[in-house]
Amino acid sequence: MSFKAPRGTRDIFARDAQDFSILERAASEIFRNRAFIEVRTPIFEDAGLFLRSIGQETDIVSKEMYLFEDKKGRKLALRPEGTAGIVRAFIENRFDLSFPEGKFFYGGQMFRYERPQAGRYRQFNQIGAEYFGNASPAADAEMIITAFEILETAGIKDLKIHINSLGCQNCRPLFRSELIKYFSSKTDLCSDCVNRLEKNPLRLLDCKIDSSKFSGVPAMSAFWCPDCRENFETLKGLLSSCGLSFETDDKLVRGLDYYTKTVFEIRSGQDTLAGGGRYDNLVKELGGQNTAAVGFAFGTERVISAARNSGSLNSFAQKEKVFIAIADEELFKEAFAFSIKYSKTGGVCVSGPVNGKSLTSQLKFADKIAADKTVIFAKTEFEQGKIIIKDMKNKTQSEQQLQNII
Ligand code: AMP
Repeated sequence: MSFKAPRGTRDIFARDAQDFSILERAASEIFRNRAFIEVRTPIFEDAGLFLRSIGQETDIVSKEMYLFEDKKGRKLALRPEGTAGIVRAFIENRFDLSFPEGKFFYGGQMFRYERPQAGRYRQFNQIGAEYFGNASPAADAEMIITAFEILETAGIKDLKIHINSLGCQNCRPLFRSELIKYFSSKTDLCSDCVNRLEKNPLRLLDCKIDSSKFSGVPAMSAFWCPDCRENFETLKGLLSSCGLSFETDDKLVRGLDYYTKTVFEIRSGQDTLAGGGRYDNLVKELGGQNTAAVGFAFGTERVISAARNSGSLNSFAQKEKVFIAIADEELFKEAFAFSIKYSKTGGVCVSGPVNGKSLTSQLKFADKIAADKTVIFAKTEFEQGKIIIKDMKNKTQSEQQLQNII
């Protein structure tokens, strides 16, 4: 019997896995610099949580959730995104009462039953943040700036920020009914759009099949109330004051139901790397106190791939790989102790020694594991306090005092 990783999942080894840790570490440092605290929530939650928060009509909930029942018949779902679980945790831990302001960040696996393709997996990773209790566009600006800084730190060059406002409960209903009027006159909508027309007409704006057909579609900006208009202007001013350029994008609506006012995406070429927005009603809708909130998430795999395309990440310091070999079996103990001590310096990546093998086969092994250097413990040199260093790339060899190495 042979097993394969399930469709849409993959194994990540060595330098690929290391890219994840590098990015996660860089992101968590940037988050901490801005007083975000880390949160880890369960990978599975009550399925109803996602239904209520993300929305029944969204692709994520209607088509892509991994649903299962446990032995007691509880209906659970693997998390398809991070926000719902964090809002649930925020309320359950009564942070809505005790935190005047709460800034959280997270990272981890998400699950969506999507058709696998380049940059699209069924199990993938996101890094994201949620900022509770601040209704000001300054919080939106801080989130956009933070997301941008992480992507910039990853070395991605052609980043573009897209922003829009979906309005609030005062102005969005007007826009909504104008959209329904506009779309109702169209006869060639795809079946998803027909289904969504009454329930969530905003989603039609980013339909992958139909969106190119919509010329002359009403723009949300024409319906903004004075408050939403002012908010959006303030946001733009704050981004500009920090030297960020952006595009306003009337058709940007994002896939999830809970967004209000500001929504944004950060793209690299055609690829959407990060997305987020404000969701001022969700905490209350899920049973908490009325709490303003804004969040974003980026796809870790996509960011890594964009960083590689920009020629970075790979350039993050790779440690030199050193293999410890023994020319004389009796030096194994000394070589072993040296290997452990050397690896503790943190400056190199050390493997070996192995016993019971000739020096020739040890050197072959060092080549196989792509060691940059081999440190050879040989009796004559060792008695003079020295070891031999063989450069595996250009095959040169030198002697050094053992005590100088560490
Ligand atoms: P969303 O939660 O849909 O707003 O997605 C936020 C980000 O997560 C996207 O911009 C992508 O970078 C990433 N993402 C979403 N779905 C997938 C997937 N199936 N595979 C890999 N990355 C994804």
